[in-house]
Amino acid sequence: MDDPTDPMTHWNKKPRYKGQKRLTNDLSCLKGIGPKRADLFRARGINTVKDLLYFFPLRYEDRREAIPIGELRPGEQALVWGRIRGGGEERVGGSRKKVFKIEIEDGTGTLQVLWFNYRPAYLWQVLERGKGLAVYGRVKAYGKTLQMIHPDVEKTESRKSGFLRPIYPSVKGLSQKVIAKAVQNALEGCAELVVDPIPGTFTEKLRLPRLYEAIKCLHLPPATGDFKKFSEGRTKYHERIQFDRFIGVVLAVLKKRYERSSTRNVGPYSLPVDLLEKFQANLPFDLTPDQTRAIKEICQDLEKDSPMMRLLQGDVGCGKTVVAAAAAYAAILNHRQVALMAPTQILARQHFVFFSNLPETLGFKPLFVTGALRAEEKARAYEMMRHGDCNFIVGTQALVQEEVRFQDLGLVIIDEQHRFGVRQRSLLAQKAEAPDVLVMTATPIPRTLAIILYADLDVSVIRSRPPGYKGVITRIMGEGEKRKIYEMVTGHMERGEQVMVICPVIQGTEDQDLRDAVNMYDALKALYEPRFRVGLIHGEMPPGEKDTVMQKFHEGKIQLLVSTTVVEVGVHAPGATVMVVEHPERFGLAQLHQLRGRVGRGEKQGLCLLVKRDGISGQAEKRLKVLASCDDGFVISEQDLLFRGHGEVMGLRQAGPGEIDISEVLNNQHLLMAAKEVAEKILREDPELSGQKYRYLRMQLEEQFGVDMQKKARK
Ligand code: ADP
Ligand code: MG
Repeated sequence: MDDPTDPMTHWNKKPRYKGQKRLTNDLSCLKGIGPKRADLFRARGINTVKDLLYFFPLRYEDRREAIPIGELRPGEQALVWGRIRGGGEERVGGSRKKVFKIEIEDGTGTLQVLWFNYRPAYLWQVLERGKGLAVYGRVKAYGKTLQMIHPDVEKTESRKSGFLRPIYPSVKGLSQKVIAKAVQNALEGCAELVVDPIPGTFTEKLRLPRLYEAIKCLHLPPATGDFKKFSEGRTKYHERIQFDRFIGVVLAVLKKRYERSSTRNVGPYSLPVDLLEKFQANLPFDLTPDQTRAIKEICQDLEKDSPMMRLLQGDVGCGKTVVAAAAAYAAILNHRQVALMAPTQILARQHFVFFSNLPETLGFKPLFVTGALRAEEKARAYEMMRHGDCNFIVGTQALVQEEVRFQDLGLVIIDEQHRFGVRQRSLLAQKAEAPDVLVMTATPIPRTLAIILYADLDVSVIRSRPPGYKGVITRIMGEGEKRKIYEMVTGHMERGEQVMVICPVIQGTEDQDLRDAVNMYDALKALYEPRFRVGLIHGEMPPGEKDTVMQKFHEGKIQLLVSTTVVEVGVHAPGATVMVVEHPERFGLAQLHQLRGRVGRGEKQGLCLLVKRDGISGQAEKRLKVLASCDDGFVISEQDLLFRGHGEVMGLRQAGPGEIDISEVLNNQHLLMAAKEVAEKILREDPELSGQKYRYLRMQLEEQFGVDMQKKARK
């Protein structure tokens, strides 16, 4: 075995890098990256060489062969090669503005290449009559003339560039060229540092490439690469990275399972026999049978002497919060603190309001902690937590920060965990000695997958909805029905109801036909204000601002809210009855189901209008129909799974290993199964790995996945 990237090749050597080059070194150790560029990368969350290597392209452009000018169609992006016929600077109309024009021809036609913003010196140097020029960009028709505006250009005599060009997610202040170059430097300079944590015997059997090869080929696709597969994220290189992400999570989960059986809970609770009755007596409604059962299951866990690890699954609106409240009540009766972590600021605040409104007799003393607090507020909050002046702490991920200390944390509740971040889960749990943990999710996943992903959790399910739940009617609308849609929207707002309009992206992208939130907001504001107030919310707004907007919407001060999917998770506005979703074909079914769960949660029935784009595939249309005809999250998630079997754009995330998303799981079940098998073999020291040095292997796994493998508990 002399594959240098195989961990087993090195097992007997000392760690090879001490104070030397490491993948965890700061980016600025790379050629061509000074402090300024390093800062720009950092702002995007890319700090180390490893981060950069795992910053994968979003998509690719096929620049392998030029298309003859005579065959170009306006609207398409293309590589064109031709000879320069002439050009230069001209005035635009009668104005002072100038345009730089270069004309190329290739025997089948001519193409005008235009720049409105440019450096003259550079373009004058490009403009060399008779020389070959390759240009890449979107083709436009201007009358009978074909044009390309601000394309990428390269002087070359070859019609072929021979490569698939990677397009990276944007990094503010850095061009694609700079990003690509930096990645290339990292690939060249650090090849020997990329040690594959998975032994070759496994990757070979699974027909997956070695790690370095996978990383490299994602950044620099081979010229023979299948463009379609690369674009859809379905190459074996994508699979390898996905596989690693699964291994990381599965290892952590399995390891926790092994460990849990050997830990003891600090103080098993003693609970009054009439706990449920007492709790119920303080509620304005009757608990449903499913809620009651879940609460009983939780109480049984709490009375045991090993810590609770329970997942509470239940569709949107089925009433999970009140079950969590019952669990918290049990902990508070036993004089322990409870921490509730929510994924967004908005949701955390909502919970805070809910728990603050519980009758005093239940004994809740809530506190709200978010990253948005000012320093002195934060210090005070921390002080209160440490001294036990509060017993119920609600917050965002700010709760897992270093400085956060509890006086006596007994129960950890994590809401809406549709990202399976095992690590975050355990970070909060580490704030206490073996606390009880309750995880809540509205994203039902099939049983087989739950068994793998939640191997360390017991599961309670709430299937039925509270009585009086009216649900949401879902209708599919065509693009041409705009008028009708907005007449309906107006009608509902006139009756004092609120509306949400969901867009898939925040602001204009290269895909010009895509309606974005910012533009939609401007348009609807112009249409409705001052008659109705229109608001905008998206993920890139500062947390405080998001909060304000959401609060206003909640209070009914905003009638129409334009939003991206930030509202997807758990947010609750009682007056919202109508949701318009633009480009629903861009969302997963389960996600759409989550989204529509945001409306119709008050007295009135909800209405969800899916505005599909003309010309979407029959398959996509079928998917939407499932949603229109079914309101059961479990059924929808199963259907989603079936559809996705046909391969949907996966889009690698730029995150390294750590957290995985439901869609990744649904799209790659076979890889997840394989990862589980491999992880189990590694943990069990399987005979197939005999002769392998486990200590070294674990060290590599630990380094790559951040899973603490050394202290493996015996089963
Ligand atoms: P989710 O499971 O999506 O988190 P919530 O806990 O936010 O749902 O509950 C949705 C709504 O249903 C809330 O307004 C809540 O007060 C209400 N609710 C919960 N349980 C019941 C019940 N048993 N009877 C009537 N209303 C209920
Ligand atoms: Mg909820």
